[in-house]
Amino acid sequence: MTAKEIRQAFLDFFAAKGHVIVPSAPIVVKNDPTLMFTNAGMNQFKDVFLGEAPAKAPRVADTQRCLRVSGKHNDLEEVGIDTYHHTMFEMLGNWSFGDYFKKEAIDWSWELLTEVYKLDKTRLYVTYFEGDEKEGLEKDTETYNLWKQYVPEDRILPGNKKDNFWEMGETGPCGPCSEIHFDSRPDNERAEVSGASLVNADHDQVIEIWNNVFMQFNRIKDGSLHPLPNKHVDTGMGFERLVRVLQGKSSNYDTDVFQPMIQFIAEKSGKKYNSAAKPGDTDWADAVAMRVLADHIRAISFAIADGQLPASNKAGYVIRRILRRAVRYSYQTLDFKEPFFNELVPLLAEQFKGVFDELYAQKDFVQKVIKEEEVAFLRTLEKGLNLINQNIAIVKDKGLMENVEPSSQRILGSVAFDLSDTYGFPIDLTELIARENGLTVDMEGFEQALQTQKLRSRAATAVSAGDWVVLRGGDNTEFVGYDEIYAECDILKYRKV
Ligand code: ATP
Ligand code: MG
Ligand code: MG
Ligand code: MG
Repeated sequence: MTAKEIRQAFLDFFAAKGHVIVPSAPIVVKNDPTLMFTNAGMNQFKDVFLGEAPAKAPRVADTQRCLRVSGKHNDLEEVGIDTYHHTMFEMLGNWSFGDYFKKEAIDWSWELLTEVYKLDKTRLYVTYFEGDEKEGLEKDTETYNLWKQYVPEDRILPGNKKDNFWEMGETGPCGPCSEIHFDSRPDNERAEVSGASLVNADHDQVIEIWNNVFMQFNRIKDGSLHPLPNKHVDTGMGFERLVRVLQGKSSNYDTDVFQPMIQFIAEKSGKKYNSAAKPGDTDWADAVAMRVLADHIRAISFAIADGQLPASNKAGYVIRRILRRAVRYSYQTLDFKEPFFNELVPLLAEQFKGVFDELYAQKDFVQKVIKEEEVAFLRTLEKGLNLINQNIAIVKDKGLMENVEPSSQRILGSVAFDLSDTYGFPIDLTELIARENGLTVDMEGFEQALQTQKLRSRAATAVSAGDWVVLRGGDNTEFVGYDEIYAECDILKYRKV
């Protein structure tokens, strides 16, 4: 089956079970202070779960574009390194708003996976919530018993709060969940080590594909749980992971969701994509870079199409950080010395035509925004890379002389600050480059330099505002006197020395 057919089969299946198919919400969240970007299919139904808005229908299904790069669900560091975490991904979902509950949800998950998609039953593992005494939450025996009809007991596994109690964020709807995992290892490996021991162990070939959440609580600010007015079903299946297991691949990037993009990047860079490259191999860095580009273009493009332009703060800065991360891989690893990342937009827009038409409709604008960002970052990137490389060499030499383990060697905080302030390197990019060289960053030193600069600019604002008025915070103005400015301002003290 092609990716397109797989998506359609999901929607058709749930439509036949009485679900209304609804559109994806935008990836950018504008009206919820607890969330920057859509991180799950359920976000757009949060108020329905909380009993604060009526459901449009008791049963709905969709494919939702999601972004997991900030907050409680943040997978950015995995992307490109592992084979199954993306920044932007599609989450296929079906919901019951106070209608059906655990039995139907479980029956239908099993029916879809084994009868429609015909997945090998012996490779499937399921989990249930083992309970949590501290929170006063019971073991989910009902789910365990429902799975027993389909799955042998040694493949029904208990899970703790981290894996089997799903929460949208620090606050909001939540509940026990039951995950479905697929073991795609070759038979000989499966015979040697049971897949049960690898579920939730971050094994690249034993991966979670679907989560059935039984929404029953709302977590409020003080951390306490409160029962929701009704019980609901909220499921989320990773589309790219589903496609990968159905197409018999060992990486999401080897499916028709990503291959056209990867091949385009490979061709333009004059390098080969080796999906099997391992860390330490000569082609590992190229493979990571190609995966990162193929992934990040999705996050950036949909964020822009949904109204979030790259910027220097808040959600806009999250987008700029991801963009600059991609541009560094493109420039340094894949050797694109001219803006290239933006050239991926037309291919992506074409791919999502008929699925998320928002991108196609704005593809020229999206490409233009990305190109401008690239041009701007490319102006300082080379100089910034020189600076960090020099510091890496100095730190390594010093470590060698003093016999310090590389993992304890740190890029200077003042250099990390200079990289961010003068060359536009977001701190996580500096950390990434440090990690690639086996080092870390002196974050305390960085924070200190940042703080010093804040005080300096505050003092500068104050002084330039006049001789006798000091402006502080927001719209309020008050006179605080010279002593206080000087006392607060390390940079001035530093200058006196
Ligand atoms: P994992 O444990 O693999 O990080 P998760 O438990 O965080 O996944 P859920 O919050 O349960 O994921 O989301 C529902 C489904 O969405 C998962 O079963 C998975 O198939 C998919 N999914 C989650 N995160 C990602 C991601 N970063 N990229 C692609 N698919 C994802
Ligand atoms: Mg996760
Ligand atoms: Mg999980
Ligand atoms: Mg999960």
